[in-house]
Amino acid sequence: MTLEVVMGPMFSGKTTELIRLVERDVYAKRKGGIFRVSFDARYQATGVVAHSGLRYDAYTLEATEQGLAKLGGTVESAGLETVGVDEVNFFPESIVGVLDRLADRKRVIACGLNLDFRAEPFPSTMGLAARADAITYLSAVCVMCGREATRTQRLVQGKPATRDSPTIVVGGKGLYEPRCRSCYEPPA
Ligand code: ADP
Ligand code: MG
Ligand code: ZN
Repeated sequence: MTLEVVMGPMFSGKTTELIRLVERDVYAKRKGGIFRVSFDARYQATGVVAHSGLRYDAYTLEATEQGLAKLGGTVESAGLETVGVDEVNFFPESIVGVLDRLADRKRVIACGLNLDFRAEPFPSTMGLAARADAITYLSAVCVMCGREATRTQRLVQGKPATRDSPTIVVGGKGLYEPRCRSCYEPPA
């Protein structure tokens, strides 16, 4: 089938778009499911939730090689034809090969941040984007000036997080802000 990638900064509508695409497949009589990492504490036990509050049921996977090894089995036992994965940036880079191979048989929609808070590429997302049949790039609204935001600023007590802080820190509003190129402050 195909590998589609939906990417952009935080608050750009990636999860909303993923839910829209998977839900829409129902009308094509294709059974779809969404996977997400198990550690993301922003969500309830199951389900993905967009920043607008829109939610959809989801299967959880550990963000490890062992977690990824379980993906194929769940896809088969649930009889999924469309496989959505939210926040692919949270998974090890081996997700690239796993989803690329799965896309030979299924419609795979991989969704995630293209850049981390330092504005450096996330290898999982970009490896998938390089192999994708189609890419959707979404932008958010810059919280500072209202222009299109393509960067994600991480804040610690209102100030840009430093470069040496960890790549993955789970959070939403308050911790992260979508900003445009001019308003984004590169971490020191
Ligand atoms: P993502 O998965 O890319 O983080 P979501 O799909 O969860 O994005 O949420 C997108 C929603 O976030 C928008 O539809 C809007 O309601 C809300 N939102 C909040 N702040 C912003 C912003 N600065 N720019 C765009 N959307 C925003
Ligand atoms: Mg999201
Ligand atoms: Zn701006």
